Amino acid sequence: MEERVSRQNSLFHPYCVLVPDKPITNPIYNLMAIVIDPTILAIIHQHNHILCVSHVNPDGDAYGSLLGMGWILRHLGKNPVLAMQDRTPTEFRYLPGSGQIINPSAVANTYDLIICLDASSADRMGTVFRAEAHAPIPLLVIDHHITNTRFGTVNWIAPDCVATCQMLVYLAQALDVPLAGPLAECLLTGLVTDTLGFRTSNTTPTVMETALQLMHGGANLPNIVARTLSRRSARVFQLWGVVLADLHLEEGVIWVTISREQMKRAGTNRDDGQLSSMLITAAEADISATFTEKVDETGQVAVECSFRAKPGYDVGALAFELGGGGHPPASGCTLPGTLAEVSQRVVTALKAAHQQQAALK
Ligand code: 5GP
Ligand code: MN
Repeated sequence: MEERVSRQNSLFHPYCVLVPDKPITNPIYNLMAIVIDPTILAIIHQHNHILCVSHVNPDGDAYGSLLGMGWILRHLGKNPVLAMQDRTPTEFRYLPGSGQIINPSAVANTYDLIICLDASSADRMGTVFRAEAHAPIPLLVIDHHITNTRFGTVNWIAPDCVATCQMLVYLAQALDVPLAGPLAECLLTGLVTDTLGFRTSNTTPTVMETALQLMHGGANLPNIVARTLSRRSARVFQLWGVVLADLHLEEGVIWVTISREQMKRAGTNRDDGQLSSMLITAAEADISATFTEKVDETGQVAVECSFRAKPGYDVGALAFELGGGGHPPASGCTLPGTLAEVSQRVVTALKAAHQQQAALK
């Protein structure tokens, strides 16, 4: 599906995702390209009544790519239906088209095509995807997670892209859809949130070029940053105050646990990996984790695990082994069990991974 080709005259080639080769000596001149397979363009052209879905516990890239795909399809004269298992949180309601996202109960059984965005495995679609009714419908998977299980009929997986929204920038260009207005605003949101404001180690000149194109198309970078990265409820600080009082740091791994009771008292039920991202800035740590207690769809107690790693360390592989997924520097999984059981077991595995990876340095 992904074809690596030598660098053409192509810093701005519309069909190419340019990524740095290894080792990076000069990131601008040492580039490779990924070409969009014509099958992907064809399957989109061939269908009209399309269900688009992204992942549970959605982030900016999930909303940006879901809504962005909606704008691309509408521009092509198609009739997309956008669905998400979870209710849209306030911070993403500024995104154009967010009011049209439907919940699982409004999802029909018949569509020509399903497009799944930013989800690394089928279970991430949550209750939007009903296996029995939807399995016969062609499924196009567009995702940038290296751990993607390729669960679609057609899969376009580009781990070298910092966000699924970056892939949609190239897709829009390949389909001759202008990168402007609502589409640009949605796609820049995914780039901004998945790179934590263009600060992650995969932020290459090409990523900045992509962002630049979206800004020229009218996307408002300061507004996106203000609405997403620079905004959280005071209740989240209250929760952090409580859980950080019991911060653990051992053998290069830093972690906290968050119980349902603590969330209830703070009046919030979301943290969304923000605390994990903050903990990894600790100079003494190479790997961070937050363990959040929840009750899953079946009423069982489960723990949402969120991992981060400093450059040179990888938490994606462990998350994948544990049934989750993600990227080398940011990943997660959900495991059955109590907070104490799961955190103890996973921290042991994180320490072992840390020791193994540190030895290779
Ligand atoms: P976060 O910690 O911000 O929730 O997630 C970090 C990364 O890990 C994201 O790319 C997200 O998609 C992935 N991730 C988090 N939790 C899970 C999970 O339970 N399953 C899978 N497959 N990926 C997850
Ligand atoms: Mn993403």
